[in-house]
Amino acid sequence: MIKTDCHLHSSFSSDSDTPMIDMIHAATDKGLDTICFTEHMDLQFPDKYDMDFIFEPEKYMKQLNELKNTFSNNIDILAGIETGLKPGLKNEYDSILSMHEWDYVIGSTHLVDDIDPYYSEYWEGYSEKTAINRYFECVYDNIQSCGNYDAVGHLDYILRYAPSKNKYFSYKESADIIDCILKKIIYEGKALEINTNGYRSGLSSPNPCSDIIKRYMELGGVLFTIGSDAHCTGHIAYGYNEAYNLLSSLGIKHYAVYKKRKPEIISLV
Ligand SMILES: [Zn+2]
Ligand SMILES: [Zn+2]
Repeated sequence: MIKTDCHLHSSFSSDSDTPMIDMIHAATDKGLDTICFTEHMDLQFPDKYDMDFIFEPEKYMKQLNELKNTFSNNIDILAGIETGLKPGLKNEYDSILSMHEWDYVIGSTHLVDDIDPYYSEYWEGYSEKTAINRYFECVYDNIQSCGNYDAVGHLDYILRYAPSKNKYFSYKESADIIDCILKKIIYEGKALEINTNGYRSGLSSPNPCSDIIKRYMELGGVLFTIGSDAHCTGHIAYGYNEAYNLLSSLGIKHYAVYKKRKPEIISLV
């Protein structure tokens, strides 16, 4: 079974109020042996949303390292970050990432043309198909301009907020741009994150969905990371049985846990 969760948020993230220590206790209670905190760092998140998605890496590292030592006999606690990618932020992210010893960096796209698709305003004025496709175009632009990450986070994140969820989504509709993204990930040796938040966001699949995972494999992709994107204790390792069954059915036998920005390969079986 999967005993790692490499996408966790705590109260260092603006949208979580769960202390790190509570997340750690819950993870050990669930039998996990490795967790990675990946707090939100979305530089230049638009002011209109009243959320800054910024944390202080010094404070984060201090607390994480104290807890890492305290729990060293129980669980391996890794220092990660989820960067919110936007064109033009390369130097700022490079600077943050060079100043501390990170284990794992998720590169995520949370904005489309500076609009958060979580809000209905994004979906007004676009057909759903166009709105979804535009998200993938932004992902591609972002990974072109900010290449300092280890895994692309929740690649079809946009589906969580689509009015029809994934009911009308087909990989084929956005195949050209998705293929460009996947080829770039593979060429640059990055990982594809399997984010099980999809299961609790009404998608009945992880992000990305199985068609995109299959396409990544067809194109030669072999590196996967796994995380729940939990912001509270109850969501840690959420959907892991379903994810395990899906990955097994696709013939995936290994996944990666990043330590000091290098993948360690773990057997799925
Ligand atoms: Zn995210
Ligand atoms: Zn996240």
